[in-house]
Amino acid sequence: MKRKQLTAILCVIILIIAAVTVVSATNIIGGKKTDENGKPDTGENDTPNESDTPNENDTPNESDTPDESNKPDTNNTPDENDKPDTNENDTSDGSGKPNDGGSGYKSFSLTSGMSAAQAYEYLDSFLSSKYSILINKQHKVGSDYAPDNLTVPAGCDYQMEQTAAKALTNMLAAARADGYSDLILYSGYRTYASQKNKFETRTQRYLNEGYSQAQAEEKAGEYIAPPGSSEHHTGLAADVCSSKIVSKFGYLDDSFDSTDEYKWLKEHCAEYGFIMRYRKDAEDITGFLYEPWHYRYIGVDHAKACTELSLTYEEYYEMLEKMRDEAKAEAGL
Ligand SMILES: [Zn+2]
Repeated sequence: MKRKQLTAILCVIILIIAAVTVVSATNIIGGKKTDENGKPDTGENDTPNESDTPNENDTPNESDTPDESNKPDTNNTPDENDKPDTNENDTSDGSGKPNDGGSGYKSFSLTSGMSAAQAYEYLDSFLSSKYSILINKQHKVGSDYAPDNLTVPAGCDYQMEQTAAKALTNMLAAARADGYSDLILYSGYRTYASQKNKFETRTQRYLNEGYSQAQAEEKAGEYIAPPGSSEHHTGLAADVCSSKIVSKFGYLDDSFDSTDEYKWLKEHCAEYGFIMRYRKDAEDITGFLYEPWHYRYIGVDHAKACTELSLTYEEYYEMLEKMRDEAKAEAGL
């Protein structure tokens, strides 16, 4: 019995020691948890943890997204400056070949998987096509320029080049399907003669107001493309606006950009191959005042790429030319 009692006592002591150990251990661990968590900590920790994690994720994501969109910007910068080219080569090559062309086409979404020869062919094909033509006050076409395959888009009153016309028809049909039936084509192809007539009429208005010929032409040029500098001459441009706006003002007005129809166009035009040509923040680059209604057909792939890069067509076109030349040199063509 004594042994049994001793054994029992020993067992009790062992149990007590074990229990104390567990309790103290629990207190230490639990204490820390409680300190950090407490009851609210559980939630707070979760919340900060969750928010920390997403924050951490968001930051890189956010910086990734601009980075990706900046990449092509980097292409522009190097194209313009050459300095970033060296940087790009340093980063990508690390082989001390700073002047081997920059390989800008490799970081451009449309040519990223291509060899230099393929990229050259692809870019040159687009730049040689009628759909890529760059027209502005510095790049005019002559009075003898005439687009072929003009047609009137279904349900519209103006001519456009047939591929652009089909794209416009599809775009307006999609807008209608989404509930925006108010969008109408207000101008398409314009002849050189009609451009000249419009320009001279506007110039005369300023002459009548007392401006000199040069001043009057410059002022007219802010609103009316001088003959040969209008994209409408190509049949690839469309003035698309809400009939509500045109009814209200009697003309195409900037306030179109406050309508839901405009928001739809801005969001979807690239899916049909169009870009908004004359942005508010790029008047010094395009040479034309803001026109939220003027859309230019360049094809779906390039319209999407140009839009994603937030470039004017002047910048985009120059970037493609530089990349084509880089790819050509790199391919030894
Ligand atoms: Zn226009």
